[in-house]
Amino acid sequence: MKCPHCNTSISLFSKTMNSFEKNRVCPECQEAIKSYLDFKSVMIWFIPVFIFNFIISTLFGFSMGITTAATIGIMMLISTKLKISQEDNKS
Ligand SMILES: [Zn+2]
Repeated sequence: MKCPHCNTSISLFSKTMNSFEKNRVCPECQEAIKSYLDFKSVMIWFIPVFIFNFIISTLFGFSMGITTAATIGIMMLISTKLKISQEDNKS
């Protein structure tokens, strides 16, 4: 994920991304950022991810429940993006 302010990539596993605070800041430039789920991206990934899920569960005999949960998780990660927080001056 990239910071919308300074373009520095922020790790998904960084403290910033794992906090549940509403007002997150970029660890690099200290500007306010917000993560959101990009539904367009979810739509684009839905079919290939579903097919992949089907192939994996068929090939390896995993139960569809487990692979579906895993692929949905991956899809959410791919589709989570950062945008500039507009709530800067509200507090
Ligand atoms: Zn930044």
